[in-house]
Amino acid sequence: MNDLSPVIAADKAHVWHHLSQHKQYETIDPRVFVEGKGMRLWDATGREFLDGVSGGVWTVNVGYGRESIANAVRDQLLKLNYYAGAAGTVPGAIFAQQLIEKMPGMSRVYYSNSGSEANEKVYKMVRQIAARHYGGKKWKILYRDRDYHGTTIGTLATSGQDQRAMQYGPYPDGFVRVPHCLEYRKQWDVENYGERAADAIEEVILREDPDTIGALVLEPVTAGGGVITPPEGYWQRVQEICRKYDILLHIDEVVCGVGRTGMWFGYQQYGIEPDFVTMAKGVASGYAAISCTVTTERVFDMFKDDASDPMGYFRDISTFGGCTSGPAAAIENMRIIEEEGLLDNCTRMGARLVGNLNALMERHRIIGDVRGKGLFCGAELVADRATKEPADEKKVQAVVADCMAQGVIIGATNRSVPGFNNTLCLSPALISTESDIDALTDAIDGALTRVFG
Ligand code: PLP
Repeated sequence: MNDLSPVIAADKAHVWHHLSQHKQYETIDPRVFVEGKGMRLWDATGREFLDGVSGGVWTVNVGYGRESIANAVRDQLLKLNYYAGAAGTVPGAIFAQQLIEKMPGMSRVYYSNSGSEANEKVYKMVRQIAARHYGGKKWKILYRDRDYHGTTIGTLATSGQDQRAMQYGPYPDGFVRVPHCLEYRKQWDVENYGERAADAIEEVILREDPDTIGALVLEPVTAGGGVITPPEGYWQRVQEICRKYDILLHIDEVVCGVGRTGMWFGYQQYGIEPDFVTMAKGVASGYAAISCTVTTERVFDMFKDDASDPMGYFRDISTFGGCTSGPAAAIENMRIIEEEGLLDNCTRMGARLVGNLNALMERHRIIGDVRGKGLFCGAELVADRATKEPADEKKVQAVVADCMAQGVIIGATNRSVPGFNNTLCLSPALISTESDIDALTDAIDGALTRVFG
């Protein structure tokens, strides 16, 4: 391999890295990845890593080094790289159709290029619907404690993880928090926990006045807030509540979408009929930037009520929503998932991963809870199983670092959830094999022993 030390020096001198404590970063040798194939990555020193988090933030669903995606993008770029606005492109039209075929009840796709942006589009649509159809009344948006929807000021106003939003306010009005549904950390001592957690949403609606609430945004399985799988009965009740009060249900599939849970979309695991679905990361597995805001014909119709009104449509554009590389990569990404049977593989390997983590829980008292849906799993670490006192943050980070030292990349819920930054996260690519899964959990086993004894 060429000498990459100038690259490493340039990275250290000039790149402002995401999610890194800047002062700490100065003290370490930066890691620069140079190559990826399947589940594996190589850094600038030639060291190999098994990637248990699909590119750091649960994105590379079909694995690295896919020549067919690269070729599809290359061919499309040479044909036509871009057009945005009121005209279409071939891959934009084809991908929209293929996507809608996977989403019964949905009908329209609005392209942009990040998860935050896709969510922000919904918030704008909800506000416009309120202005045009409800006399400005149904303008508020409910979001849930522990969920995360993006990094812009608008989406941060719906951050259920306080530390992500701290320091960037003040925020716009009209975003109201509802309680999380994590049964492991019960807020109500009842039998039907799922229904009770959903009823808590109704309580907020009644407190705020149902006539003021336009939408509710939720992750199907909460990602960075701790890999929170919903309790039994939760989603059915949430859907009933939304219908009862004429509240649009927005499902944020930025992480769960396009196979991560073993179905095309996380909401399909729970029989939900959403009004909006947003997706980003897995749509093109990181081979190109693309996000989609998907909605029903009923919602779309609300934007064409008066053809003579110059304000009577969704007055929004995303410049790079016109890049054809995104849908070209997404079409090939979807074909791969279908033809390689990756949804089934995800379900089978996900069951193995949860099984392995449960086996670790029997031997390591530090694991308090194991949760997962498909290849989207978490193990919550607690200092004391009885009190559920979260494990020491530094030790949780030491487990992640120990795995890295073994050549295995895992994650932990980010430091933005005070007191809850204690869930180890695993989201390997949907191509994972049994030996990949076992290698991930073996690494965690060793790390837990070394860090916690
Ligand atoms: N929604 C969820 C559930 C996410 O996890 C994220 C990012 O991690 C986002 C939205 C924001 O996506 P992006 O970083 O592409 O703006």
